[in-house]
Order: sequence, then structure tokens, then C-alpha cells
Amino acid sequence: MRRLFVAGNWKMNTTLASAQKLAGEVVVGVAGITELVDVAVCPPFPHLLPVSQSLANSRVMLGAQNAHFENAGAYTGEVSIDMLVDVGCRWVIIGHSERRQFFGETDSQINLKVLAAFQRNVDVIFCVGEALDDRNSGRTESVLSSQLKLGLANVRIEQLEKLVIAYEPVWAIGTGVTASPEQAEGTHRFIRDWLAARFDRVSADAIRIQYGGSVKPDNAKQLLSLPNVDGALVGGASLMSNQFLGIIHAAADLARLSGE
Ligand code: PEP
Repeated sequence: MRRLFVAGNWKMNTTLASAQKLAGEVVVGVAGITELVDVAVCPPFPHLLPVSQSLANSRVMLGAQNAHFENAGAYTGEVSIDMLVDVGCRWVIIGHSERRQFFGETDSQINLKVLAAFQRNVDVIFCVGEALDDRNSGRTESVLSSQLKLGLANVRIEQLEKLVIAYEPVWAIGTGVTASPEQAEGTHRFIRDWLAARFDRVSADAIRIQYGGSVKPDNAKQLLSLPNVDGALVGGASLMSNQFLGIIHAAADLARLSGE
């Protein structure tokens, strides 16, 4: 079993005070279980530094929700990977469907971001996922193949240890609808086989593929127990410590069971 990885995407939520409080509650709530499961939180940019201070001396990792691919320069409103590293980020989410949908991020921009993060030694949660129309018309696999092919262009096999894929069907994000276990497992297997064909089987088998889309404590165990689901990228439920911790504890229970 690959080591499960649960990451919280806080999106454009939290105040400075609530971000620090939430991070503090996560730190306390995961005591003892970060031995079993990887955990990260991804606050909005202005809260990265204070949250990184709240996470100090814990194994909860810090991630950002986006970054620019250039290192510095005249890019008003943007934040570089080096800036993220400076404030303690180990992870960056790249290619989230909200970035693609609302900010027009293209596959080639996403690819430049992935490459820039790897170059600066930052780990990437690379998001892919199909819209409802795509799924209903049988285009899921072609959409995912295209996102993977373009987003991972020029990625070298030795960089894969810094890559996590998040499969997030757009129709399941923030909707309360989750992919069925069959849909999730089938799609994750498709992604892993695609990775094996593009890189090699051993590397593909080592890559963690998170599921994202309305993961809650009451559906986490079922989803995380699927053979090709290696964690969760959690939006709404990551904003409430009891819910986020419920998902992390479900992951820890599965890790314990698999170690027995
Ligand atoms: C997300 O935005 O990455 C996400 C999975 O959101 P939610 O859990 O709210 O569906």
C-alpha cells in the first residue's frame, strides 16, 4: 500500500485568526498519526507564513494553491515558487479545476508551473478531472489523457517522486456528489496505466493518486480503501477541523490495518 496523503485545500477562505486556529487544531488532532499518514494544509497566500509558524514542530506540511512559473519579474499579482519556499511551503497545488475554469489556465501554463516547481524542489499536487458533460458523453479518458500528456510534458522520470496526482471530477467538487467507488477506482486505474505507458510500471506504481470531490468523514474510508486511491484532496471539509481530522483518522485506520 502506498502511504496515504490527505491534503486540505482551503481555497479563498479563512481569516488570519481562523487560519491559525484551524492549523493549530489540525496539529493537535494529528498527534501520533503523522507516523502513518501524510498530511498537508494549503491556505491562501497571505496566511502561508503565519500558518507555517503554527505548523512548526509538527509533521503537518504546508502547501500553496497556485504559483507562477517565472521566478521574479513584472507579473503583477503573482507569486513565485521561490516565494513559497521562503515561507515554508513543501507543496504546491497546480492545475486545480477552479484555476482552469475561472482563470483560464491552460495546459501549457500548467506544465510550465509543474516544471518550475520541480526545478526548485517543490512537490506538486497536479489536478486533473473531467466535467460532467465529458463523463456523460464517454470522454473522461480522452480528457484525462490530454490533461496528463500536456501537463506532464518534459517531466523526467526521476522527478516523479515529487509528483502526486489529484483526480478531481469537476462534477464532484463542492457539490456533495462523490464519484462512486467503481468510478473512482476505474479512473484511478486508468491514470496509473497511463503513467505506466508514459514512464514505466515501477514508477507509476509508486505515484500517489489522491481522489478529490466532496470527500467527507463518512465517505472517506470507502474511497481511501480502494486499491488505486492513495489519499484525498479535500476542499470544504478541510475548513472544519473535526471533519478534516475525521478524514485523516479514517486514513490512519486503513494504514494501521494494512500494516497488521
Ligand atoms: C477541491 O476543491 O479540491 C475539492 C475537492 O473540494 P470539495 O472537497 O469541497 O469538493
